[in-house]
Amino acid sequence: MKVTIVGCSGSYPGPDSPASCYLLETDGFRMLLDLGSGSLGALQRHVGIYDVDAICLSHLHADHCLDICGYHVARTYGPGAPYPLVPVYAPADAPRRLGAAYGMPDEPGLETAFEFRTLTPGVYEIGPFTLTAGLVNHPVEAYGFRVANGTRSVAYSGDTGETDELVKLAAGADLLLCEASFVEGPDLPTGLHLTGRQAAEHAAKADVGQLVLTHLVPWNDRATVLEEACGGGYGGPVELARSGVVYDLS
Ligand SMILES: [Zn+2]
Ligand SMILES: [Zn+2]
Repeated sequence: MKVTIVGCSGSYPGPDSPASCYLLETDGFRMLLDLGSGSLGALQRHVGIYDVDAICLSHLHADHCLDICGYHVARTYGPGAPYPLVPVYAPADAPRRLGAAYGMPDEPGLETAFEFRTLTPGVYEIGPFTLTAGLVNHPVEAYGFRVANGTRSVAYSGDTGETDELVKLAAGADLLLCEASFVEGPDLPTGLHLTGRQAAEHAAKADVGQLVLTHLVPWNDRATVLEEACGGGYGGPVELARSGVVYDLS
């Protein structure tokens, strides 16, 4: 399995990365986890714009889903269109919310380009991937994912505060893409995001092979995020996500 960090900037695009988007490839099948603000551009450095086979949206905050609107234009009106519908696994409100963001009426909404499939906690067979979705700890309906291809597995926190669900999803995974939006400080809100230390604590409990800190908010000092993660009791390799980096898990 090949995992490409397309976008890892938290909450809005940064100067060197779009917002959340991860490209997972196995056996020629290409699946995106999130398609956040700005990510459709960077995605085209790694894959043909029409060569995406499935999309999973962790939640409906703009930095995780909004480039679905531009992608709808490409697939509906681009040369050679219409293209086959891409399945989009997303919370139930996605067709209405994303259609409204684009300015479409409810019918046909964005369904000239996408086939929306309602995400609930559970297991989904998507091409050669098995995706497990679990509810995480965020102010809106939000999922963490585990994606396996039979031999390798990657877990993705989405946006979350502390939660045992992430430990369950990530248990024994080869790679954990874990958000680290906060730096330590007094009065951090709960049920929203993790610090680097908390990300590492989840990685340690899940005993993952490798931890990549992501959803890095541009106003934070990244060296501090990494330093705090190194104090979280996780003994494996830890690094900061960077747009364009590829992890080959084969
Ligand atoms: Zn976010
Ligand atoms: Zn969010």
